[in-house]
Formats: sequence, C-alpha cells, structure tokens
Amino acid sequence: MAKRDYYEILGVSKSATSDEIKKAYRKVAMQYHPDRNPGDKSAEEKFKEAAEAYEVLSDTDKKAQYDRYGHAGVSGNGRQGAGGMNMDDIFSQFGDIFGDDLFGSFFGGGGSRSRTQRNRGVKGSNLRIKLKLSYEEIAKGVTKNIKVKKYIACSTCGGSGAKDKGNVHTCSTCGGSGQMRRVQNTFLGQMQTVTTCPTCNGEGTTITAKCSACRGEGRVYGEEAISMDIPAGVQEGMQLNIGGKGNAGERGGMPGDLIIVIEEEPHKELHREGLNVAYDLHISFTDAAFGSQIEVPTIDGRAKIKIPAGTQSGKIFRLKGKGFPAVNSYEKGDQLIHVNIWTPQHLSPEEKATLEKLSHSPNFKPQPDKNEKNFFDKVREMFS
Ligand SMILES: [Zn+2]
Ligand SMILES: [Zn+2]
Repeated sequence: MAKRDYYEILGVSKSATSDEIKKAYRKVAMQYHPDRNPGDKSAEEKFKEAAEAYEVLSDTDKKAQYDRYGHAGVSGNGRQGAGGMNMDDIFSQFGDIFGDDLFGSFFGGGGSRSRTQRNRGVKGSNLRIKLKLSYEEIAKGVTKNIKVKKYIACSTCGGSGAKDKGNVHTCSTCGGSGQMRRVQNTFLGQMQTVTTCPTCNGEGTTITAKCSACRGEGRVYGEEAISMDIPAGVQEGMQLNIGGKGNAGERGGMPGDLIIVIEEEPHKELHREGLNVAYDLHISFTDAAFGSQIEVPTIDGRAKIKIPAGTQSGKIFRLKGKGFPAVNSYEKGDQLIHVNIWTPQHLSPEEKATLEKLSHSPNFKPQPDKNEKNFFDKVREMFS
C-alpha cells in the first residue's frame, strides 16, 4: 500500500512551523476521532494516519529524516510504519497535544482514557545499531534478519512488573493521574502548578509485590530477531528509524525506536562516488593498440566492454545506469571505467629487441589529439 505524504495528510506545507503542524493535527484528529465516528473504519484509518504523520513531523530528527529520504527514512520497514502506533499510543500522544482539561472538554469521557494511558510505565530508550551492507545489497535493496540485544518485555509478568494482577494498585497519593495539581494564590490571581507525583513517579500505579523475573522493572535484557527491509540506494551514515523496536519501556511503557545506521562495506574493485561507481581498468599496451573485448566487474555482476583500437591511457568509458539508485527517486548513477595502459616493468632480451625495432617507427611517436579532452576536463566530468 502506497503511503500518503505526511504533509498532505495534515494539510500543511513543507515550511509549516511546529505550531502550525500541531494545530493542523489537532484539527484532523478531532474530525476523525473514533468517539465522533463510531464504527467508521475509514475514519479510524485516517485518524491513525494523522497520528503517524504527526509523530514524525513533530519530532525534529524524524522530520529531517523524512524531508531527506521520505517514508524510507523514518520507517525502514513498511510493515511497522513510522510508529507502529496503536490506539493507546495515539491517546498518550494526545496528552501533549490537547492537555488533559482541553481533551476532556472536547471528547467527554476520553479525558480519563488519556490520563491513564499517558502515565503507563516509563518509555524505553532508542537503540542505535550499525548495519554493514555490501555494494550489491545497497544497489538492490535487501531484507535483513538480525538479532538485536536489548531490553524486551518480561514474559513472566507481561511487562507489568507485578507478581500478579492483584499487586498493581492505583496510586493513593495522586489518585492514578500521576500528577499533583496545586493551586496557589498569587498577586496575579490563582495559579495552578502541575508536578509529577513523587510516590509513583508519574506512573499512576504502585506495585506491592514485584515480579521476581524482572525485579519489578517489567522488562529483561534479552534478544529479539528483527526482520527489516532496507530500501535500495541507502548510503553510508544514513539512518533508518524503525518505530517501537528499540528498548522495551519499564512496566509497560512505550518502547523506544530502533535506529539503523548504514555502513558501506568497501568493495574490492569498485569505488563509490555519489551515485556513480568508479572502476580502475588496467589493460596491456597490445589490447589498447589492437582493440579488444574486456570483462569488468559491476555492482550487478560482470559486464563486457569493447576497447576500440588506439584507446589512450586515461580514457574514461561510461556504463549508463550501472551505478547506484537514489533512495528516494528514480535517478540512477553510471559506472565510470578509467583506462590505464600497463607499461611492462621487466623485459627479456628478446622483448627488448622487438620493441627496439619499433621505437623509431613514426606511429610510436606521441601525437596527442588537440580535440581530446584533457586530464582536468576528465576529472571534472568524472565527478559531475
Ligand atoms: Zn516481570
Ligand atoms: Zn502517584
């Protein structure tokens, strides 16, 4: 399924400020909110779509990734989507967007839902791993199955951190909101301050008996096998964000993201220059003088090229479209083949005698073609 552009979903331009993005999201979210469209599946999809768009565009890092690489930059995996967001995640995001009071007045009972979900557990941290890819994998895109060492939800307690369900209690200090509200009288009038509840650290619940497997944390250090689709055309240093695949949160908190940092494995014979691929070809003097067919490596197997008779050292041949694809467009680079003519370094007496005979022949005298591009032009062309 093709994903819609995040800016289009929220109806804002690329230059929109974070405030404008927030406002636009608020509008779309209210329009498609499930409480207002009960049983309407397409409204729910639009609601989720908007939440995902906002999740990315409200985060400076993710927005920059998205602006540069499109959906590939923020998901890296179509199945997980940018956030892998479920309804709970979306409602917890609402706490920041609407504020509890505003939310309550907009959606009635929805406010209490936001309150309990927002405070559940502690969000897991993002996890950054390096992924080495060969030129071939980068050229075609690849599905990688890797094992990631990280915090995973405790299977004994299901992530709650409690020995059993009866050990989880609503925090009596804050009544489950996770917040302490205090009204102060000041010369400006009444001011309300909101602080995190010190008893439950904002989680809204306390645990009387801890799960012994995770010591109450709700997560354990372990390993998860993760399958990810790497799009064709990624580059050294590029980061792909897989939402929700980072460290598990504490006591059922949202997981962090998994950030894949791309590393390019150097190729034995080829060298990347942007989207182009450079190859240094060494041929014998006789192949250059007579002309020949020569096989060269490419990022997609081997290719035959024709060396015309009389090819000079320094000549650059171009194999159109044999370079790297761009990650977010249909653009493709070329392969550039740089010809070097091999000068023998050791000569037997017979070889010497043969060459001696030819050395005074007029055809062996250098006669550079004035129309031929010079070295500097070629270098410029090669890197263009
Ligand atoms: Zn546990
Ligand atoms: Zn509390």
